[in-house]
Amino acid sequence: MTGEYHFPPAPDSLQRERESIDGHAIPRKTHLAKRKNKPPLPLPSPTRPAPAAAGGGAARRHFRCARLPPRCAQLLLVGRPFPALRSAGSDCCFGIHPEKIMSNVPVAVVTGSNKGIGLAIVRDLCKQFKGDVYLTARDPARGQEAVAKLQEEGLHPLFHQLDIDDLQSIRVLRDFLKEKYGGLNVLVNNAGIAFKVSDRTPFAVQAEVTLKTNFFGTRNICTELLPLIKPYGRVVNVSSMVSISALGGCSQELQKKFRSDTITEDELVELMTKFVEDTKKSVHEKEGWPNTAYGVSKIGVTVLSRIQARMLNEKRKGDHILLNACCPGWVRTDMAGPKAPKSPEEGAETPVYLALLPSDADGPHGQFVSEKTVRTW
Ligand code: NAP
Repeated sequence: MTGEYHFPPAPDSLQRERESIDGHAIPRKTHLAKRKNKPPLPLPSPTRPAPAAAGGGAARRHFRCARLPPRCAQLLLVGRPFPALRSAGSDCCFGIHPEKIMSNVPVAVVTGSNKGIGLAIVRDLCKQFKGDVYLTARDPARGQEAVAKLQEEGLHPLFHQLDIDDLQSIRVLRDFLKEKYGGLNVLVNNAGIAFKVSDRTPFAVQAEVTLKTNFFGTRNICTELLPLIKPYGRVVNVSSMVSISALGGCSQELQKKFRSDTITEDELVELMTKFVEDTKKSVHEKEGWPNTAYGVSKIGVTVLSRIQARMLNEKRKGDHILLNACCPGWVRTDMAGPKAPKSPEEGAETPVYLALLPSDADGPHGQFVSEKTVRTW
């Protein structure tokens, strides 16, 4: 379930009222008379359900802009999260122009951001990105805990549940972003897993589980969310330098395929599936694969990024979207352990740099980047 509040559809009478207001059919006087002497109820926080209002469900209480130039004639429905209301404009009685409410607030989403590098990326984006920043987590309790931690630092991330292994969870987020923001400006695909070297889980199981999240989960997110990316949007797929060393451990034939400028997403999916199948038959080494499930999963992420960037060039060239894969470096997190040299904040630097490439930048795009530097694939 998501941590967001989902309000029920308005009953028929309200739906009619909404339509007539959107169509400007309600005269100004009637509109103002209805509001007279009724101060607006406090609006709910974006991450909390609306408080129950006296005399009926809060989700069904409506307010309208009192100044009502025709463009402003919108219903504001209590119960719907309004992060935009934090910033005060002056165009309507809620201190904000309704256009800003639906789609003009830029929005950034970071996957797997309840801890580690993802959390550090959210922290940086809260400070530097001019818009709403969504911390997401598969476990809402862990996610809310992380949000509370950043709030203690004076930051204001929003929260949405997201399990990248769960297509339904991805689609709930997709629909939410579409409805509330009309798209997405920044997507950082950070969520990932790795078995510890000492883990005794059979290699074939490690391969299946690791590929499921790191490659197939990341791909599913991209399939659902890339169409939502707005012009000048930025997409960052967190891969690893291990993808480069694992590529070096592949057969010449596989290396050629993974370096190809014409490999398709379907072909890549076929190869990633074959790796998992080969490990089950214990023939992966004979078939030219390196002995690292994590490394192969990150080859998948890097090659996927190259393909996606190519597709953007072909289909949305004029939209100036920049999409890259990156390595955060070796970072002290639960995944990499306490001996790694970089702090999570240092690990966030390259992903955040790519997420905030200025609007007049025409690159990097379709690259593998570490230490803010393009690396040869
Ligand atoms: P981490 O501390 O283990 O954090 C991983 C994050 O991903 C956690 O929030 C985890 O959530 C989340 N996650 C895992 N599976 C998920 C799923 N199915 N859906 C949603 N979220 C999921 O690891 P990290 O070191 O910060 O790694 C972040 C990224 O950087 C990963 O992609 C990793 O491969 C990459 N990376 C790390 C290093 C390094 O040295 N640390 C180096 C190169 C690349 P839970 O708390 O629920 O498990």
